[in-house]
Amino acid sequence: MGLIGFIVWTLVFFTMLVVLCYKEAELRTATIATGVFLLIFTIFGDPGNIFLAVDWLLFAVLVSFNIPEIRRNYVSKQVLKFYKAVLPSISQTEKEAIDAGGIWWDGEIFSGNPNWDILRNNPKPKLTTEEQAFLDGPVEEVCQMTDNWSENHKDYDLTKEVWDFLKNKGFFSMIIPKKYGGLEFSPLAVATVMSKIATRSGVLNSTVGVPNSLGPAELLLHYGTPEQRNELLPKLASGEEIPCFALTGPRAGSDATAMPDTGVVCKGKFEGEEIIGMKLNFNKRYITLAPVATLVGLAFKLYDPDHLIGDQSDYGITCALIPSKTKGLETGNRHLPLGIPFMNGTIVGTDVFVPLDYIIGGIEQAGKGWRMLVECLSAGRAISLPSGAMGGAKAVACSTGSYARIREQFNIPIAEFEGIAEPLGRIAGYTYVITASVNTTAMAIGTGEKPAVISAIMKYHTTEMARKIVLDAMDIHGGKAVMRGPKNYMASGYEAGPIGITVEGANILTRSLIIFGQGAFRCHPYILKEIEAVEQENQDESLEQFDRHFFNHVAYTLSNSARSLVLGISNRFGNSPVTDETENYYKQINRFSAAFALLTDISMLVLGGSLKRKETLSARLGDVLSSLYLASTTLKYYEDQGDKETDLPMVHWGCKTLIFEAQNKIHEILINFPNRFVAASLRLFIFPLGRNISGPSIKNTLEIGDLISRKTKTREKLCQGIYLKDEPSNHLAIMERALDLYETAHPIKKDLMKARKKGLIKGNTLQELMDAALKQEIITQTQADQLHEFDRLTMDIINVDDFSEKELKTIR
Ligand SMILES: Cc1cc2nc3c(=O)[nH]c(=O)nc-3n(C[C@H](O)[C@H](O)[C@H](O)COP(=O)(O)OP(=O)(O)OC[C@H]3O[C@@H](n4cnc5c(N)ncnc54)[C@H](O)[C@@H]3O)c2cc1C
Repeated sequence: MGLIGFIVWTLVFFTMLVVLCYKEAELRTATIATGVFLLIFTIFGDPGNIFLAVDWLLFAVLVSFNIPEIRRNYVSKQVLKFYKAVLPSISQTEKEAIDAGGIWWDGEIFSGNPNWDILRNNPKPKLTTEEQAFLDGPVEEVCQMTDNWSENHKDYDLTKEVWDFLKNKGFFSMIIPKKYGGLEFSPLAVATVMSKIATRSGVLNSTVGVPNSLGPAELLLHYGTPEQRNELLPKLASGEEIPCFALTGPRAGSDATAMPDTGVVCKGKFEGEEIIGMKLNFNKRYITLAPVATLVGLAFKLYDPDHLIGDQSDYGITCALIPSKTKGLETGNRHLPLGIPFMNGTIVGTDVFVPLDYIIGGIEQAGKGWRMLVECLSAGRAISLPSGAMGGAKAVACSTGSYARIREQFNIPIAEFEGIAEPLGRIAGYTYVITASVNTTAMAIGTGEKPAVISAIMKYHTTEMARKIVLDAMDIHGGKAVMRGPKNYMASGYEAGPIGITVEGANILTRSLIIFGQGAFRCHPYILKEIEAVEQENQDESLEQFDRHFFNHVAYTLSNSARSLVLGISNRFGNSPVTDETENYYKQINRFSAAFALLTDISMLVLGGSLKRKETLSARLGDVLSSLYLASTTLKYYEDQGDKETDLPMVHWGCKTLIFEAQNKIHEILINFPNRFVAASLRLFIFPLGRNISGPSIKNTLEIGDLISRKTKTREKLCQGIYLKDEPSNHLAIMERALDLYETAHPIKKDLMKARKKGLIKGNTLQELMDAALKQEIITQTQADQLHEFDRLTMDIINVDDFSEKELKTIR
């Protein structure tokens, strides 16, 4: 056989293999197809003897894989041994974290072949009439009642009036069911309320956040005994009890399981009676609401050295609810969080003796505290901080858009300079991505999903995007955002950024360890099943199960290799559930999902347990997963919205940015992959035509920058959910009014400037020019009034505060 003939036959064979893998053909089908090919090759292909012998030998191996006994004893048994050697050891704590919560769209991305129906069937974001009324009523009212400057620099607290209002109107009970007196709002409603109050006051947002996120109410609802629920939930709903939850201490931060805080089961006197209870000793810090809490949720390690409640001596992390007035428990001292000094402080307990029924869920739940916490975190983490990030981002996007339009330099609104429009575009784009992901994720949680990995993605990426947004906004504002005072609406958000980054799982840890680390086990279709099979004590069952999962896993990897290669060559082979301008993004997500699944498998195979320690690689794998998740939610949110024209430029920006990011992170993984041969082979499958995806064009970025600096429908939509009541202390409303007037006033101002240039009028100030222009009838009185009002509002926004030495002494 000549060289050309050999190449043609090889290509045909390779194409057949790729098609079989791409179509996820069963082993039997693949064997028959290979057999038929070899037969034809033998008869018509004139192969040399060596080729023929090798090919038939390989075919014989393939046939043997179809015979379970041979496959198990000669292949799976050996692989099982290898797996036992390389599988990372998983501690009980990690196991509980991995098991916590569920999987949703993240599982689809991990599959390499996402079923878009799962995402598309997620309900559209919609509030009930009652939830909307709460937003239009009490939420608007409380926003009006708060005063960000006083809270942050004078009082270091909300006023008593606001505290009472929050309690009376049920702000602390949004997640508590109605039967206990709560509001029983959907996750979307909680996110929307939290987001709106964040546009007004960070202190307000943090204060309302804790009772509606991971804390006593949430824990009671899931694990409390009926008695505990009936007694405490109505008090939490009415605000009679103010909760906090204390996990962190000086010696245990990110690794909360290392806490030295103890509870020792012993006999003691409680309310005059001798009972079996627990003596608690603990030292907690950074606890939100601790200084005002009446009910302290506490995590500690429970020991029973005298076996008063059972055979076990060491129960492990346990959660209890302790009244703050209990003897030996000290609260009150405060920390001062950066930028937004909400109630946060220490809780110290020395020999605090309490009954065992303070344990959430009673004695049966002793030692199950860690599991409780990670399970509750799996949903709550996707709502509380992300919704604050959404509110903050919206407020920053809208105020910065307005500011850039009304602030002029060189006689031009600064929004017209490309140098400003570009960061403005980034602000708009990221705000859209945050909004889309918060809405879509909240709706998924509302349908009962508890996506643990997604909640980590949401927490990390929304707070990181918010940080980027506020940094760009600070630069756009220049000195205006630097000078402290009631007129500075940017500084507290800028200062407070690190709070969101740190709480509920510090971001570096979340990115390096949680997103991919938990995802790889939780979302991968086979890894956990294989581990469970490996851990089976019965050897026969272990081998039988392992064999099944392992061969499915091999098929899955081959399929992802084929999909990655084919879709990397052309997107035309991919499918999309839509045929509009966003079609290509669906196909690109499909492509990178396959590439990600392949990369995950090979990384775990090659690096085994050491992947856990290679945080820089696993962080980047997590980035790929996150980008694909956020791009998907951007598309879903776009589909859910009626007015598509309004959103499209932002969808393009968001999807291009995120998919480009996914591509670049894969590239970074490959250039840093420890095994160079494997990296080169992976590159062939993932980037057969090189890195061919580009990020958003500058034109696209400038376009959306422009759209949010004018009164457009795009801006209106992005600003939805902001506190915009037209009242003197609301700078956002003043800016809206100024922007309203801009379209009318700016041309008038331009006419004045033209007239001055032509020498028709003279004057140094705007007032002098207006007077002269009026006299010359270049402008009408109405136009002069409009321009005057625009200038007044503009200067109200542009001006910053100044203080006398005496006043300064009253500011903290
Ligand atoms: C304003 C505020 C409010 C809070 N409210 C509460 C509350 O109500 N209740 C409560 O219990 N706690 C609360 N916390 C505590 C918060 O959850 C912790 O601050 C957080 O868990 C991090 O702990 P740490 O600050 O001690 O940082 P450390 O754990 O010391 O971490 C320092 C750095 O190391 C990184 N890091 C740690 N381990 C790893 C790793 N394996 N790989 C890579 N990086 C790693 C972290 O990401 C971080 O960047 C609050 C904190 C703040 C700041």
